[in-house]
Amino acid sequence: MTTKKLFILAGDGIGPEVMAQVQRVIDWMAKKRHIAFDVAEGLIGGASYDRFGHPLTDETMQDIFAADAVLLGAVGGPKWDSLPFELKPERGLLRLRKDLELFANLRPAFVFDALVDASSLKPELVKGLDIMIVRELTGGVYFGQPRGIETLPNGERRGVNTQVYTTSEIVRIADVAFDLAKKRHNRVHSVEKANVMESGVLWREEVQKLHDAKFPGIELQHMYADNCAMQLVRAPKQFDVIVTDNLFGDILSDCAAMLTGSLGMLPSASLGAADANGHRKAVYEPVHGSAPDIAGKDIANPLATLLSFAMMLRYSFDMMDEAELLERAVKNVLDGGLRTGDIMQTGKAKVSTTVMGESIVREMDKLAG
Ligand code: NAD
Repeated sequence: MTTKKLFILAGDGIGPEVMAQVQRVIDWMAKKRHIAFDVAEGLIGGASYDRFGHPLTDETMQDIFAADAVLLGAVGGPKWDSLPFELKPERGLLRLRKDLELFANLRPAFVFDALVDASSLKPELVKGLDIMIVRELTGGVYFGQPRGIETLPNGERRGVNTQVYTTSEIVRIADVAFDLAKKRHNRVHSVEKANVMESGVLWREEVQKLHDAKFPGIELQHMYADNCAMQLVRAPKQFDVIVTDNLFGDILSDCAAMLTGSLGMLPSASLGAADANGHRKAVYEPVHGSAPDIAGKDIANPLATLLSFAMMLRYSFDMMDEAELLERAVKNVLDGGLRTGDIMQTGKAKVSTTVMGESIVREMDKLAG
């Protein structure tokens, strides 16, 4: 790829503050590494509603389609809570995911040594933890038909949702997971409930078939979702890549997130189908929301967004060295004792969003020699 077209949607609340720290890294790369990103910016969520009367406009969507990857802050806040459903900030996010057909959600759960005490589990269980959860995002029970609430002839009400997956939906998400495992530790756990659900039986069979045909060198284990939940809190380091459906992925990724301790540290990526050159549409964003309670105070943790940017470097732009440099800078700054308020520990130095961002760039400069 010759140009790296990056589209930034800072969004609402703390979005612009944390995104400003990514801009520092982009500026550093241009100045020190001569890596030029073609950066464009747009509005989403409440910010877009305030300006255009809609949480994500067609024009912005067109610009997004022209980009190689999108970096998103967060959307939402009390200011827009009373808007009609279709105009709420979150609708902008849903449109983005739907229009780009982002079917694979990647949620790493990584524990930095310096933050091992922030986990709800014992340090020895989580030290060195590095899991990637790959969640199917556009199918399954959240979208399956029939769905709805009906009143039965006897007056009783009935709520229905349908868990449904096709072969192609299973194969494309499993393909993403196996591909990721190749770049990691070559292990995949495929998670379903084949013991009680036909959709789980199909999931298991299709994942196994794909494995045997295309990825025989990767270690594959099938696991029931309830056992996976238990294993995540019993011995989480047994996992490398976990691939699962929309519902189980929703729950298991939040469970894995808490193993790491802080919302302000968690990046994510959502990927779409690969084009003829193998390039996927992709949106990178922190797991946290717009944190209106601390917005505008320069105290938000920018690391989840910086780590999302590192994921973008790795997965959208194949810039492994730069991704590693940024991640090592985060590690070293934490090892050096700097903390934003959300991850503050006794004896450490509490710093602002800005100082954290500046420190990361300074550390990158040092590491790059
Ligand atoms: P939240 O993630 O915004 O905040 C939860 C708590 O964590 C708050 O106390 C907040 O101050 C803190 N927090 C979050 N990120 C932080 C950071 N980077 N540094 C330090 N502290 C941080 O979740 P919420 O309060 O439930 O939601 C607030 C708004 O965000 C709502 O409008 C919600 O709809 C929206 N939201 C958006 C997204 C998204 O854009 N993807 C995700 C979740 C929530």
